[in-house]
Amino acid sequence: MKRFITLAFAAIVLFSQYADGQSKKGAASPQVKNVILMIGDGMGVSQMYAGLTANKGSLNIERCTHTGFSKTYSADNYVTDSGAGGTAIACGVKTNNGAIGVDAEGKPVKSMLEYAAQNGLSTGIVVSCDATHATPASFIAHRANRSMEEDIALDYLETDFTVFIGGGRKRFEERSDKTNLTEKLKAKDYQVTYTLDEAKKVKSGKLMAFVADKHPAAYPERGELLPEGLATALNILKRNDKGFFLMVEGSQIDWACHDNNQKALENEILDFDRTIKVAFDFAAKNPGTLVVITADHETGGVALNKGNMAKGELTAAFTTKGHTGVMVPIFAFGAGAEKFTGIQENTDFLRKILELYGINK
Ligand code: MG
Ligand code: ZN
Repeated sequence: MKRFITLAFAAIVLFSQYADGQSKKGAASPQVKNVILMIGDGMGVSQMYAGLTANKGSLNIERCTHTGFSKTYSADNYVTDSGAGGTAIACGVKTNNGAIGVDAEGKPVKSMLEYAAQNGLSTGIVVSCDATHATPASFIAHRANRSMEEDIALDYLETDFTVFIGGGRKRFEERSDKTNLTEKLKAKDYQVTYTLDEAKKVKSGKLMAFVADKHPAAYPERGELLPEGLATALNILKRNDKGFFLMVEGSQIDWACHDNNQKALENEILDFDRTIKVAFDFAAKNPGTLVVITADHETGGVALNKGNMAKGELTAAFTTKGHTGVMVPIFAFGAGAEKFTGIQENTDFLRKILELYGINK
């Protein structure tokens, strides 16, 4: 009997080692090669539905196959800011409002862009704001506060990104320390351009494309920065056989809602939705591509009190000039989209995306 128990125990140990080996092997085989993470800053369900109504009942985002919700509270506040919200998404930790790429104790935490770069993938950022603004900064920089924008610009030289398209030339070229960071980027083999048209000519290598001195204008004044910037980035990033990580932000949905400006909100959502079409079309043609769309928080406490779908008319009401604490939607399409159903923490994006890539944390 004793001998039987010993044998049975040995069998269990052997089996559990086998099962363990299997699960490790499973984690290492990637389901996803390319990830396009799209953040509508301040985009709650009402913002998205305002755009859908203004567009007389449809949006490209409806092509998503899976939906979920993300809980946005930060480490120190029920209502997050875009620093803590971006850091939670990018780095997988709840941190204090205002923090960029550091945890609640101030310790730097690696972002999903950095994990991707360190594993040989190409990486990119396309935004309709300054390079040093909170959301893009969360993927690149590690600083105690989002206000340290000149320091955040320095972090672009420390991080191995492939493509940046957005605003922010001044923080790189007209700095209080008199350093010209553009020259330093060129020394690291970046092609530096100052218009979207120049950027569109770049098909390979590394690209730093400034399309504005500070923030790009609101839509429609800024033109097709987001959809065409995304297409430009994809042309470069898709050349890497190992895959890529790309973050795209509709940065100014948030600002329209801070201003309680319904027309600006509609314009920004429709521009973001045209950008989503570019991402979905790429994912449909390139198996192994995941598109995840979410928000860092809701802005404005928007309610849609009256509307007419056929006429594309609505009356939006705003309860605040700031952010709110409500959950925000997640829309997913392509390889691994099923991971993004249900209700999750904003810190779960990092874990899920690394698992899909087969990258160990
Ligand atoms: Mg933002
Ligand atoms: Zn905001």
